[in-house]
Amino acid sequence: MTQTITVIRGDGIGPEIMDATLHVLDSMNLGLQYEFADAGLVALEKQGELLPAATMDSIRKNRIALKSPLTTPVGEGFSSINVELRKRFDLYANVRPAKSFPNTKSRFPSGVDLITVRENTEGAYIGEGQTLSADGEVATLTQKITRRGSERIVRYAFELARRTGRKKVTIVHKANILKSTSGLFLKTARAVATEYPDIECNEMIVDNTCMQLVMRPEQFDIIVTTNLFGDIISDLCAGLVGGLGLAPGANIGTDAAIFEAVHGTAPDIAGQGKANPCALLLAAAQMLDHLAMPEKATRLREAIIATLEAKDSLTPDLGGSGNTMSFAKAIATRI
Ligand code: NAD
Repeated sequence: MTQTITVIRGDGIGPEIMDATLHVLDSMNLGLQYEFADAGLVALEKQGELLPAATMDSIRKNRIALKSPLTTPVGEGFSSINVELRKRFDLYANVRPAKSFPNTKSRFPSGVDLITVRENTEGAYIGEGQTLSADGEVATLTQKITRRGSERIVRYAFELARRTGRKKVTIVHKANILKSTSGLFLKTARAVATEYPDIECNEMIVDNTCMQLVMRPEQFDIIVTTNLFGDIISDLCAGLVGGLGLAPGANIGTDAAIFEAVHGTAPDIAGQGKANPCALLLAAAQMLDHLAMPEKATRLREAIIATLEAKDSLTPDLGGSGNTMSFAKAIATRI
């Protein structure tokens, strides 16, 4: 069966890493068809808007998008196109794996294999109710957590554990201080956890979690948490395993899912063939899992690991002298 996906080539290094990623996917005979759509600066230049209706329609129709990073120019309607996409498609689960890879500049070249599942639609991060007093002395922000929002993200985390054979879910919170909001999240999470007796569950306060992640990251399997804590923790985890060039992310909703690299458009290296395509390739592997092609996803991840192990055509950020496409070709060869 042919599956059509929306492909957004993006800004900065976006087109380079997308071409490299599609080269690898094409070598796998996946039966994927690509529907190219614009967003970001390139869309603003071509079509006069950052998020054209045709792009939204394409994602709505295909329900799956593979997306390169986008530039959101300051003063163009919304603060971030990515946040806007999450909002418009109710992409409530942000799923970010962090795994040790060989031959990377990492503090943990082995032993880390965890996934952060971050609630993506509520909490302090979305910036609701922001005010600043006229004298500039007092600022406020509303932090809203709902039972429904908490329940669906925690359920997503436990279902992910079951589906992928993972053994443990850690609920990360600050309910000792934020008794109402984090308290509701924790209470709801505990109730959901009782429905999954086959999955070990523990609770951890967010500040302790940060320390534990740095000292003993191997104790974590799946972390589930609210929006702002997840934002910070998932970047911390990316740092543990070698940084942005290897960090993928998925934004999953009921009606659509968008897969992307965690990093930005890297304007400092755009157009030079220096960009590491691995983060987007690993996001593509998450997409294959989502499309019920787990064995293909595993093959892709194994080919990336084998290429890193062989130090074959690696990009400069990994200490190699290859370029974006030669790295992708080395990966495709191993597939
Ligand atoms: P960035 O992630 O683009 O770059 C940070 C540093 O990491 C740079 O030195 C860059 O060269 C390097 N880097 C990033 N990706 C790399 C890769 N694949 N290979 C090798 N090196 C890589 O972050 P920034 O400079 O803060 O942001 C630049 C732009 O990206 C901004 O306009 C920002 O809004 C946008 N952005 C977009 C997204 C997205 O669309 N998902 C996410 C973050 C930032």
